[in-house]
Amino acid sequence: MEKINKTQDYGLTQEINAVYEEQRDEITSFICDLIKHPSLLGHEDSAQNFIEETFVNLGLDIDRFSINHDELKNVEGYSPSVGDWDGHDNIVGIHSPKSQNGKSLILNGHIDVVPVGADDLWSSPPFSPTIKDGRIYGRGGGDMKAGIAAYIYAFKTLKKIGYRPAGHVFLQSVVEEECTGNGALACLHRGYKADAAIIPEPFNETIMSAQMGVMWLQIEVTGKPAHVLHDTMGNNAIEAAFSIWEHLKGLARLWNDKNHTHTAFHDVTAPVKFNLGKISGGEWASSVPTRCVIDIRCGFFPGQSPQEVRQLIEDYLNVATERDTNLKSINHAITYRGFQSPGCVVDTNSEFINLLSNTHESHLGRPTELFASAATTDVRTFQLYGHIPATCYGPEALNIHGIDESVSIQSTMDVSRVLCHFMTQWCGIEKS
Ligand SMILES: [Zn+2]
Repeated sequence: MEKINKTQDYGLTQEINAVYEEQRDEITSFICDLIKHPSLLGHEDSAQNFIEETFVNLGLDIDRFSINHDELKNVEGYSPSVGDWDGHDNIVGIHSPKSQNGKSLILNGHIDVVPVGADDLWSSPPFSPTIKDGRIYGRGGGDMKAGIAAYIYAFKTLKKIGYRPAGHVFLQSVVEEECTGNGALACLHRGYKADAAIIPEPFNETIMSAQMGVMWLQIEVTGKPAHVLHDTMGNNAIEAAFSIWEHLKGLARLWNDKNHTHTAFHDVTAPVKFNLGKISGGEWASSVPTRCVIDIRCGFFPGQSPQEVRQLIEDYLNVATERDTNLKSINHAITYRGFQSPGCVVDTNSEFINLLSNTHESHLGRPTELFASAATTDVRTFQLYGHIPATCYGPEALNIHGIDESVSIQSTMDVSRVLCHFMTQWCGIEKS
């Protein structure tokens, strides 16, 4: 593959950069306004209305649609839904060029945000954004409303100086990235394809080279009830659930062993992340609990299929629980809902990645790095099922999924500017 070392100069660099400086306050306000729409799972509607209005003002054609689970559940890459909601739509803004000479591009971001956690721990309310030291604080600011702002302003800036991409560009704002990925999959299934796709996830201006697979599973643990006076007669389901969790942590350690790791993750410490995210069980304080349910997130390497991983987990737990004398009268049953998502690897020698990397370096004056992610993103959908070269390239953020999440305004501006220049090179431009 020919390496692109020089980008075509349309003589627009100074003009684009000048427009960005004028837009700093506007971009900051846009991200804050978007954070104010608390787009938690199943409540994305008001944020999507805001996005739709923005896309209309950019002159894009709008395609707004909900996920049809009946249709999608037989499609490769589908993950069993974790709920059913009204007002839970994807929005695609479609730019169709006059000339259609250039390559096409998907700019994708997820509108859904993760739960806030204990909101009393936040320095300010999570959906009332605050600005401090060049950063915007608020849930979803980094992950990934600033990224959505970055691609929207990349498009808007080009429009402001009187140009538009000479290839099709699809601006996608999708739901369910944080639990199934079915939002992005629904876009693909609807027919949206392109020569490349970029997701500005908050990975600190790196270019994502690989991502781990992720699986959600729920284990229902059933013990034997008894009065606490006779606790040796019963088997405590909550304690048993913790024993099972300890066994699973042993499996994660095994997979993280250097002999087991995937080459793309050789430099990453313990890329296999298992997380006990939720627990519920027991009846009241004076009975040995009968039942306990734990929700777990497991990571696994690219190349392993979800079916294979499920089998490995079940076989491992069957052997471990049989040997564990504490679990003699305990039954466990596993169900799989949410992410059943394989990992993937990005071809970092492609024309696409070279151009993105060179555009970053030439416009920001610093090199970018490759990043192998222990988390999953919608990149897998484009790569594995759409056969569309895809990566993540987005701003610097802190505490995503945590307390006091924040994103850098300057980094968002920089990423947006790079995306704007990238678009001119990848798609070409035409007068609007
Ligand atoms: Zn994200």
